[in-house]
Amino acid sequence: MQYKLLISNLDPGFIRIESRIETRGESKLNLQLPSWRPGRYELANYAKNVRSFAAFDSQGNSLNWRKLSKDLWEINCVGHAQIVVTYEYWAQQYDAGASYINADMVYVNPVNCFMYVEGRISEACTLELDVPDSYQIACQLESDGKLLKAESFDRLADSPFIASSALLHHQFEQQGCCYHFWVYGVSSFPFAQLEKDTRAYAEFQVNLFGDMPCKDYHFLYHILENRFRHGVEHADSTVIAMGPATELEQPSFYNDFLAISSHELFHLWNVKRIRPAEMWPYDFTRENYAETGYMYEGVTTYYGDLALVRSGVWTEEQYLESLSGDITRHLNNPGKDNYSLAMSSYDTWLDGYVPGVPGRKVSIYTEGLVAAWIADVFILQSTHGKHRMDHVMQALYESTWKQGRGYRHKDIKHLMEEMSGLNFEDYFKDIIFGVGKFGDYLTKVLNLLGLVIERQVDDLQGISYRVAKNAEAGLAEQELFAKWLVKAKI
Ligand SMILES: [Zn+2]
Repeated sequence: MQYKLLISNLDPGFIRIESRIETRGESKLNLQLPSWRPGRYELANYAKNVRSFAAFDSQGNSLNWRKLSKDLWEINCVGHAQIVVTYEYWAQQYDAGASYINADMVYVNPVNCFMYVEGRISEACTLELDVPDSYQIACQLESDGKLLKAESFDRLADSPFIASSALLHHQFEQQGCCYHFWVYGVSSFPFAQLEKDTRAYAEFQVNLFGDMPCKDYHFLYHILENRFRHGVEHADSTVIAMGPATELEQPSFYNDFLAISSHELFHLWNVKRIRPAEMWPYDFTRENYAETGYMYEGVTTYYGDLALVRSGVWTEEQYLESLSGDITRHLNNPGKDNYSLAMSSYDTWLDGYVPGVPGRKVSIYTEGLVAAWIADVFILQSTHGKHRMDHVMQALYESTWKQGRGYRHKDIKHLMEEMSGLNFEDYFKDIIFGVGKFGDYLTKVLNLLGLVIERQVDDLQGISYRVAKNAEAGLAEQELFAKWLVKAKI
């Protein structure tokens, strides 16, 4: 499959895609456009952004086609060795998972707009970008000038790119990996500070898992003018869209910028490699239901911030402030008394990314973080600091990804038990599959760490909660707290 992306002579807002396909003597070819993208486990139906679909033989004669489903096209190609398919795609959604074109930039998530031949998803492909020579191209794919190369459609689909003459670039090497920052949307960026902080939390994460599986890793940053916060993970890169640009120099904005960056880097291992069995391989045509969102988003949300404090980027106070925000969201969500974490994970395909009906469900991010925190502290306490979730994650990486398979609940439970010597039956029954059982576990974790939750009422903000140190905590609690936020991997 040879893809070409064109941006000139089009209505504003559209990109044009041409796909050249060898038919291998088939009389019909089916072309599938993904209906969702990994990282957002709900249907997106990208086909609604496609217009002017057409198919031709190599002489430019029209070929007949029809649709077999909302995003599956059948082309009649009898007697033709090669065909060309063309269409336009509406690229006007500016976030971390969509595609957007303006006067000096084209930004594409290929999973939105490129089709694969049914039954041939593992074939290698190339993508030629018809963009001005002045454009730099930021992407995790191997490239030769404006030609990007992917060993399969999966790899192409996972490889967003920004092409622009207004990209800022900075890179550094550490632990055998070259880290790239690509920034679009501002004319200057505090790269020295960002490099210093990224070095710290990245080293922590690499040490936690035991290796860095990519030679180059790309942070693709979009700085928006409006208030915005969105990040999406990929195998060797991430796209992060944040705004407003006017707040870039403010500590609260920059700390949140680091938090989302650390979260997305952690996904490099946890979900891009350590992946639920239900998503191995991805099926782009339909829902890929999985009940393990507490692992791929919960543990990642927990470790995104934990990596910042344990690598010394954040102070203890900054970390507890961020944790207080999570605990406020948790305690203010009546859904925790109505629906389990496992079923809320299953239902991301239904309403996972909107507030939804009041009190219907929990969040795989927030309640997933609380679940990860509970497990981490239980393992820490039972082993006197010898083991913790770090070791569960590293072992899961070794026993699933490195063995070429996805994980299931039982793999996680087995490793939690092996690392702690505890029985995690009740934890899974109550916290993962149960309803309304967080309270007792959370109280136990707070007591073990010598922490308290203070309730605060504000006329404007409503009820919030602050996680604080208990001034009367004993020595054992103080010691466990110190081990919990210890500066490096134990
Ligand atoms: Zn995430």
